[in-house]
Amino acid sequence: MTINHHPSDETLLRLAAGTLSAGPALVVAVHLEGCFVCRSRLAKFEAVGGALLDDMPPASLAADLFGRTMERIELDRPQKQRNQVPSKHAQLGLELPRAMRDCEVGPWKWLGPGFKWSKVKIAASQDAKVMLLKGRAGLHLPAHGHTGLEFMQILSGSLSDNRGRYLAGDLDEADSDVDHSPVVGREADCICLAALEGDTRLHGLLGRLLRPIVGF
Ligand SMILES: [Zn+2]
Repeated sequence: MTINHHPSDETLLRLAAGTLSAGPALVVAVHLEGCFVCRSRLAKFEAVGGALLDDMPPASLAADLFGRTMERIELDRPQKQRNQVPSKHAQLGLELPRAMRDCEVGPWKWLGPGFKWSKVKIAASQDAKVMLLKGRAGLHLPAHGHTGLEFMQILSGSLSDNRGRYLAGDLDEADSDVDHSPVVGREADCICLAALEGDTRLHGLLGRLLRPIVGF
């Protein structure tokens, strides 16, 4: 699998520092599972962060450093040694990434013609704005912009917009400058994991569509 679109260095640095909010952190964790380039880059950022931490008193160490270290160890284990994803997600018709194993994932719900969504709940962060989106092959998604960052990891199929084409394994990080109308590739349905950072809201037709149903 060739991955052409990666999270920004700023995002990886924020993940290493533990300052990326839970929703985007989940999307980036899913990307890291399949992207050796970003895993290596994150390890470098964490090494730099670790060296800085060595100079600080122990009380200043991030409380979740151990948890994040264990997460990395988990990611570095060969795929066959990891546990299987619980079968409760079989209803979605897709194998969920390892990083989502502790998430509560709802059933597909209708959002529009050829367009479905599923709520993703992160146990430790119930207000995180995360969802799976499924678009029919060839579907034109409504034009939209964002007040902040939108993270989208392609799990299957493809999406294109005025900035390029995104295939399975790619992560699209769109900021408030991006106003786009993604189109699902004609070869297959597209499923992606999407998260909005913090108070980010969608505007345009997609925002008006999602807000009353999803609350985004
Ligand atoms: Zn990457």
